[in-house]
Amino acid sequence: MTLKLIESAALLIALCWLHALNMRHVQRQLLRKLLAGGLFGAICVVGMLAPLTLQEGLIFDARTVVLSMAGLFGGPLVAAIAGLMAGAYRLWLGGVGVIPGLFNILMPVLLGLAYRTACLHNWLRIGVWQLLLFGALVHLLLVLSLSLLPAQDFGQALQQVAVPILLVLTPATLLLGLLLQDIYRQASDRQALRESEARLRAISEASPDLTLVLDEEGRYLEVMAPDPQLLHGGAEGLVGKRLADVLAVGQAEKFMALIARTLASDSPQTLEYGLRTPAGQRVFEGRARRLDTPLQGKRAVVVIARDITDRVNFELDRRIAAIAFESQQGMLITDASTRILKVNRAFCQISGYSAAEAIGQTTRMLNSGRQGPEFYQAMWQTLSETGIWEGEVWNRRKNGEVFPEWLAISAVCDERGRVSNYVASLTDISERKSAEEKIKHLAFYDALTGLPNRRLLRDRLQQARALSRRSGQHAALVFLDLDNFKNVNDLYGHQVGDELLCQVAERLRHSLRERDTVARLGGDEFVVMLEGLEIRAEEAASQVEQLGAKVLEALRQPYLAGGHSLFSSASLGVVLFNDDQHSVDELMQRADLSMYTAKAAGKNALSFYDPQMQEAVSTRLQLEADMRRGLQSGEFLLYLQPQLDQQGGLTGAEALVRWQHPQRGLLAPGAFIGIAERCGLIESLDMQVLGAACELLAQWAQQPHSAGLSLSVNLSARLLYQAGFVEALQQTLQHSGANPQRLKLELTETLLLADMDEAIVRMQALRGMGIRFSIDDFGTGYSSMAYLQQLPLDQLKIDQSFTRELPGNPSSLAIVRAIIALAQSLKLEVIAEGVETRAQRDSLLSNGCLHYQGYLFARPMAVADFAAADLFRPRLAESL
Ligand code: C2E
Ligand code: CA
Ligand code: CA
Repeated sequence: MTLKLIESAALLIALCWLHALNMRHVQRQLLRKLLAGGLFGAICVVGMLAPLTLQEGLIFDARTVVLSMAGLFGGPLVAAIAGLMAGAYRLWLGGVGVIPGLFNILMPVLLGLAYRTACLHNWLRIGVWQLLLFGALVHLLLVLSLSLLPAQDFGQALQQVAVPILLVLTPATLLLGLLLQDIYRQASDRQALRESEARLRAISEASPDLTLVLDEEGRYLEVMAPDPQLLHGGAEGLVGKRLADVLAVGQAEKFMALIARTLASDSPQTLEYGLRTPAGQRVFEGRARRLDTPLQGKRAVVVIARDITDRVNFELDRRIAAIAFESQQGMLITDASTRILKVNRAFCQISGYSAAEAIGQTTRMLNSGRQGPEFYQAMWQTLSETGIWEGEVWNRRKNGEVFPEWLAISAVCDERGRVSNYVASLTDISERKSAEEKIKHLAFYDALTGLPNRRLLRDRLQQARALSRRSGQHAALVFLDLDNFKNVNDLYGHQVGDELLCQVAERLRHSLRERDTVARLGGDEFVVMLEGLEIRAEEAASQVEQLGAKVLEALRQPYLAGGHSLFSSASLGVVLFNDDQHSVDELMQRADLSMYTAKAAGKNALSFYDPQMQEAVSTRLQLEADMRRGLQSGEFLLYLQPQLDQQGGLTGAEALVRWQHPQRGLLAPGAFIGIAERCGLIESLDMQVLGAACELLAQWAQQPHSAGLSLSVNLSARLLYQAGFVEALQQTLQHSGANPQRLKLELTETLLLADMDEAIVRMQALRGMGIRFSIDDFGTGYSSMAYLQQLPLDQLKIDQSFTRELPGNPSSLAIVRAIIALAQSLKLEVIAEGVETRAQRDSLLSNGCLHYQGYLFARPMAVADFAAADLFRPRLAESL
């Protein structure tokens, strides 16, 4: 009996061992199952060959154990094969036990499959107790199946085998179950390992990265390279070699250090390295991780190396681009609609805008407005045709300063060829410009004084000739030579001489108008060119003469040079022109010639090339001298012209000055007012007239018939704007005791318009004193309601040019009517001057003008005649 049990145990162990071999070496699922089924079946058959035989045909063996485990571990196919083999053999054996024998094949198979199903559904587990209970159940059923035997056999069988079956086969089931569980677990572990290895391999082969397994000595254990081009000598050749055999010394050392670092650390370590591969020099980034278990007895690491050449190159490009972007040039990147996306530091320095201020704006913010829309249109045209544009542009800095820049724009297109961005580089060329300017200056300007040189003068003279021909206005070329300058140079040296010349240049510049040209030809020779002079030659000559006098006066003042107080006068030679009949050279020669004439005439003088001019100027100079004297000796007299109302009643008079010239007799203002204005005598002349007028008013106030009369006095612009005029007039009024209410000042529109604001201030001050105002020659200027309303006015005086044309000329009539309507709307009195005929007066009266002055009533007359005239009675009108 014991021997039988040992035999059975040996059989089971053999089963397990064969099973393990099958599981390990047979890879194909189906074959493995067939073989497993065969094995289980064969063991059953072998078991039945040496059974515990109770009697012929009644055998006991371990088939229930084997078949139940075949069902549990092998599944339906395995169990079916084993069951069929065992069943077939049992049938062949035959005997009394054949029915229970077959039952004991089918029952463990089904129970095993049921247990298996329960396990697959997680209802049961395979464990010691479960197997023990299962074994007990199977063998209890086996014992019960003995009842299928004939009754006498059953009793014997029960008696003999029931206990051993239960006691031996139940633990045997447990034992076999545990052994098979282990074998199956190992097999499935191996399978899982194989699968995961395959998966890993697939992953590492699919990845572009290089995977290396290296041991602690730097030996290649495994190499997986998707692209063998990335390796030295192919993946296979490497395995077994050491790093030092493959890599250069420094490189291998770096790797050994990486391995050491990785082995010492729990976290992955990285290394960037360059490698010459068959595909060229590449850059790799290695990430190394320690393996938890030693390989071949040595600690090892896995290194995944990624080819980062492209990334590194891109990074490098980016850095180069960034550095290039931050160059000396201002850089600007915009989108297609010129909205600024990015600027560099140089741009900020040039433009004055910070990056934050610039980004998001359009490039229009830089526009200076110096270049018109046509300029930008042409620029965009070129850009859209060629993709690039380059040129000089005037832009505006944040502080408003306009500056020149050299601008280069490139359009950047996307894959579809549409402009996506513009890249602009700009260089501030203001310095270059100013250098250019300087060069130009050197070419056209005198280095010592900064005045235009001969070349520029000739250029301007050329232009002036053309211009004067077109406009008819005269221009003058004035040569100027310092008298005795040579002495200064000889006595005090060139340095002092140069200083003096600079001061002369300065004085010349100051004493001339903005539009005049002052040039230096060299040495002590200067040239002045005056443009836009009067059309009439004599008048132009006198303008030049006045400017010349101013210049001579300025140059005659003492100079302070090199610590010396120096004196120098100059001689001027003038040639006038108002056409291009004479060449530049001719004009220069003539001016030069007349300059020598001036020198010959005794220096500090001005001489005209044209003798007629010389004559005219001399006469004028004489008149001016006479006027000075005449003002001193009271040669200027007051003439009065009466002013009347519509009934012919005298309302006052206009004071008109006359000059009682000792040689030339009584002169009307036309002969001297102009000169007085130009030579600066008009102020004193007008003050004299005002003084006399005030005296007269004071006298009139004494007489009842004249006490109500007013006196109009003409006032020149120069006097109105003269400093202290208001106070001077106030004094004159107080001194004379005249009533300011009776004084009326006549001003012309052009006079007022010269400096409207100042005129208003002064007129209001005078108005405050009681003085009244009339606008003279009204209608000939640029009258506008706007200015009339601002002025403290009392009267408009219709100019005689309109009166003269009345009543026949419809346009004059229209103007007169308009003036009257304007005066009425502004509540101003209106008076007409130059009334010579009754028809004129009637026309004026019928249109609403109620005050008159003119030859019809009286000519201007001396004060004594005015007093003697029978003017103070209203019947004057009836007498006409
Ligand atoms: P005005 O202020 O327009 O003076 C009117 C001028 O017309 C006067 O010329 C006067 O004699 C003249 N006149 C008067 N009635 C008639 C007439 O019925 N027919 C014609 N054809 N002429 C008439 P006058 O006295 O020769 O003065 C000329 C200009 O000189 C004045 O023009 C005025 O602008 C200026 N003037 C006169 N006296 C002074 C003065 O004391 N100071 C200033 N700054 N200018 C004065
Ligand atoms: Ca007047
Ligand atoms: Ca007038």
